[in-house]
Amino acid sequence: MRSTIPVLLSLALATVGCAQHSEQQPLSSDPIMHPASNPYYSRTDTTKLNVTDAEWKRVLPVSIYAIAREADTERPFTGKYWDFEGLGNYYCAVCGNPLFKSDSKFGSSCGWPSFYEALRPTSVAYKTDATLGMVRTEVLCGRCDSHLGHIFDDGPPPTGKRFCMNSLVLDFEPEGKR
Ligand code: FE
Repeated sequence: MRSTIPVLLSLALATVGCAQHSEQQPLSSDPIMHPASNPYYSRTDTTKLNVTDAEWKRVLPVSIYAIAREADTERPFTGKYWDFEGLGNYYCAVCGNPLFKSDSKFGSSCGWPSFYEALRPTSVAYKTDATLGMVRTEVLCGRCDSHLGHIFDDGPPPTGKRFCMNSLVLDFEPEGKR
């Protein structure tokens, strides 16, 4: 009887591991078009976008749409960037807008990728969010207005800010690739 416990535990852990793995799959392997079939995606065009949710729903993977356009939040410690330390730039996964440099990323214990400043002041926009019984400041993409996450005042110097982002709405490009 006693010997079956480790076996059952292993099976349970293996199941959890599979579930996490499927959530961490890179966006490029998403069967639903990213970003090749998204005509609004550009890492150089800074033109402000005004695209309807119906159109975003048509061109975005379901997982990205849920966060970007419905302000959903990925589960902590499951995204692909929360403990990622690569050097390079982070772009909006919806529209390609440059958002953060890896220099401003810091190790946060919250389980989501965290930055102390945006790449440019206009990279992001802010909006008061009074949902879930609290008042927070929502962070939106400065180009496409998609929900990225929230900002808090418990970040490290020099800004003291913590941009708490969802990995799924970020695209990382390593330094020196272009
Ligand atoms: Fe965007």
